[in-house]
Amino acid sequence: MLVMKLSEVAGVCICVPRHERISLDVPCSKEEGIWDTLGYYDGKIVTICDKAIQKSLKKKFDKDVELREKLEKLSKSREELILILRELVRLHEHSHAFLHTATVRKSKPSGKWYSNLPKEVNGPLTEFITYSVINSLKDEAKKLFVTVFLEFDKYVPKPYRNWREIKKS
Ligand SMILES: [Zn+2]
Repeated sequence: MLVMKLSEVAGVCICVPRHERISLDVPCSKEEGIWDTLGYYDGKIVTICDKAIQKSLKKKFDKDVELREKLEKLSKSREELILILRELVRLHEHSHAFLHTATVRKSKPSGKWYSNLPKEVNGPLTEFITYSVINSLKDEAKKLFVTVFLEFDKYVPKPYRNWREIKKS
């Protein structure tokens, strides 16, 4: 659902969704920041780390009672929260894929610039795209996805949180 919304928000016809696969490995990814430890994009395929997502939510809830209470008030069940988190991970990885396949300049083939993009730029841009998609949702869905996103955003490395600066500009 969210991934299709990415095409709509971007206002262009893009290759979304990319191919996806599920991994049950824990740990699943060597990347950093909460989203890219629960899923990753390798330039071809989006991988969703199903087991890591479930474990991560449980771990965060065991550690942070305030977070647990806040999110449990928001959602009907733990299963629903896992699904929301999973969709956010999916959207984040497809946002990386979107950046990768976007054409920045007509003279440059798409994808070339992506591999040279520093993490400090790639991270916030991806986060900004993700946020823009969920912020375009309506009512209850928007509240659910934005709240969970903002809570988990606290676990990404600081430079990645610069998506807030892009939002301001
Ligand atoms: Zn990422």
